[in-house]
Amino acid sequence: MPYDASDPGARDSALQPSEQRRLEEANQLLENNKPAQAAPIFAKLAEVLSSAKQPKRAASLHAQAALAFAKSRNESALMQARPALNLMLQYNLDQQASAFYNELTRELTKRGMKSAAALTKEFGDKVPQPIPLDSRAAQLARLPSNCPNCGAPLRNSEVTWTDANTIECNFCGTPIRPTA
Ligand SMILES: [Zn+2]
Repeated sequence: MPYDASDPGARDSALQPSEQRRLEEANQLLENNKPAQAAPIFAKLAEVLSSAKQPKRAASLHAQAALAFAKSRNESALMQARPALNLMLQYNLDQQASAFYNELTRELTKRGMKSAAALTKEFGDKVPQPIPLDSRAAQLARLPSNCPNCGAPLRNSEVTWTDANTIECNFCGTPIRPTA
């Protein structure tokens, strides 16, 4: 069966089965409020994905590692945030970059960590600002009331933005762009 990136149950070609288990373990640790143990696992697997030429997935795992380090008050958060943001910016994942940047800044600031200032200094000017809410509201006003593919109602509060101009049907995953 060919590898299908959209199928979460598909075998992961970039991670060995043992690494896949490590990833599940790290997510479990995070859920159980053990970020200090989860962070180095995410960091290691991010390296594996980088080497496997999966830069976008590597960026996500570096970001996970950064957040887990931040939550365990470990300044290594900054070391993980750098590759995460650099990769996201390089691959034009603006939405992801700004969401991650804002969340990490919040976590670092909340704990009075010095990485907060360093992060702002290094990336504050580079990370695109999120789209203002009123602009989003204007876009949402132009959305169809139902998904054109499966007919599910599109409620403003429940839609998922996949990039600045596209939302995704929560039921069938069809990308929908508000019409001008
Ligand atoms: Zn749909």
